[in-house]
Order: sequence, then C-alpha cells, then structure tokens
Amino acid sequence: MELVHSGKVRELYADGDDIIMVASDRVSVYDVVLPTPIPGKGRVLTQLSLWWFGQLRDVIPGHVLSATDVPAPWQGRAIRCRRLQMLPVECIARGYLAGLGLASYRETGTISGVRLPPGLGEGSRLPEPVFTPTTKAAAGHDEPMTFSEVEALVGGLTAAGLRRATLEVYRRGAELAARRGVLIADTKLEFGLLPDGTLMLADEVLTPDSSRFWLASQWQPGGPQRSLDKQFLRDWSAGLDWDRRPPGPAIPADVVAATQARYTELFTRLTGRE
Ligand code: ATP
Ligand code: MG
Repeated sequence: MELVHSGKVRELYADGDDIIMVASDRVSVYDVVLPTPIPGKGRVLTQLSLWWFGQLRDVIPGHVLSATDVPAPWQGRAIRCRRLQMLPVECIARGYLAGLGLASYRETGTISGVRLPPGLGEGSRLPEPVFTPTTKAAAGHDEPMTFSEVEALVGGLTAAGLRRATLEVYRRGAELAARRGVLIADTKLEFGLLPDGTLMLADEVLTPDSSRFWLASQWQPGGPQRSLDKQFLRDWSAGLDWDRRPPGPAIPADVVAATQARYTELFTRLTGRE
C-alpha cells in the first residue's frame, strides 16, 4: 500500500479509493512527537473513535468503512476509511475555558473572534458552546481563525456546515459523556468532503488526544482541572527545562504509566468496556 501521509500520530495508506488510517502509540506535546511511546494508546484512540462514530451516526456521517477489513498486523488500531478531500480547518468546539482558549480570552476577551462575557476564569463553563476554529498548519502551530476567515477559505455554505456540525457533535458528545460523569471541556474535529460535496466527519473523534476530559465530580472552576487526557503530559513537560522544540524529552516510566491509566480510565468510563 502506498503511504500517503505520516503525521505526528497516524499513518495513512491508500488502498484503491479507500485509506487505511493506522494509529501509532506516539504522543506529541506542543506539536513535538516525544521519543517515548505510550503502549496501547493507538488502540485506545482507534477504539474510542470508532465508538463515537457509532454514537454520532445520526448527527453526521463519518468516514469509517470498516474496523476489521484492515491488514492483520494493524488490527485494533487501524480503520478503513473513505478517502476525503480534507478541509484545511481545525474545527474546535469549547464548552469550558482552558488551554489556548483561556490564554486568548485573557488577552482579548475573545477566542477566534468570538466574544465571551467578562468574568470567566480557568475552567469556567461558557454560557453556551462556541466554535473557535484554527488553521490546519502543515508545519508548526495552528493559528486562530475568525468565522469570516473560514468562510473566505472554504466558502460560506461549507463554513456554516462546519460550525453547525462541530457544535452538534460537541453537544451530543458532551451530553452523552455527562451521563457517565465526564465533562468535555473542548474538542478538535476535522471534516472532509466526498466527491459529491457531502460533508463527513473524519480523522479521530472525541479522544484524549483531541479533547479535554474532566471528571464532573471533581470540576472546580478557578484553576486547573484533573484531566483524563494529554494535559497530564503537557503539565509534566512544563516542569522540565525544555524549550518545546524538537527533540522532545523522553518520558519516564511512571509518567508513561500515569498517562496510560488516564487514557484507559476515560475509555472505560465512556464506553463501559475494558
Ligand atoms: P497533520 O499536520 O497533517 O494534521 P497530524 O500530525 O495531525 O498531521 P495525524 O493526526 O497523525 O496527523 O494523521 C492524520 C491525518 O489524516 C491528518 O492530516 C488528517 O487530516 C488526515 N485524515 C483524517 N481522515 C482522513 C480521511 N478520511 N481522508 C483523508 N485524510 C484524512
Ligand atoms: Mg492530527
């Protein structure tokens, strides 16, 4: 099979009109892939995405063709997908304030041009979920985009579709997760087009690599939250003498284990599976 893309976490192979998306155990922090893998992570991300694609079926069609019709060595961490024309926008929905969104709000009172009410703090719940897109940079960091910029890039109709679908996926996902005691603070989605123009949900969905998950029982706005996601690694790396440029630091065994534990706990809480 022809390797068509090797990203920070996934490899994409072309198989006829399909692609096989293979998730590795690699992990990136601040867009830098660290030298230490998190064993089992590729499988957890793949199985969780598949579960979400199923849950969200009636919200928007997803790119999944088959979870099993993939080469044997990749079983469990690969998905056969429709090959889409990907839209160059990282579609972020936020229901709570954290991360780069919090930084932007503190500086300007806005995120990606969306004005938020004053008086919000770290971990605050937003009055309603907002669509805060960014560029999808081929290299380096993604930059915030206003909705007008998204319209200029992909056209008004597609931009409206992206915003509607992103917020609907977030709302449905957050509702479902809340029933299992988990808050989804924010998430990043990617969409693509079929040749006939149909908008489809692609990439990974509502995983701990692409989202912030907090335990509802421990949520306390006004400071950092305990996260069942990659935030644990970001926090660990922030305590190091590292300039966030490659090469990234090796991850010690206890931090690997704690990260694994968070990814697995989230998977089990959401899906009810081991
Ligand atoms: P990039 O900077 O290219 O996004 P990344 O490090 O985020 O790299 P990965 O997440 O590792 O990349 O790889 C997944 C890649 O596959 C992304 O570029 C994503 O846009 C792309 N992709 C996801 N689903 C599809 C699809 N159905 N058809 C084509 N490309 C897809
Ligand atoms: Mg990606």
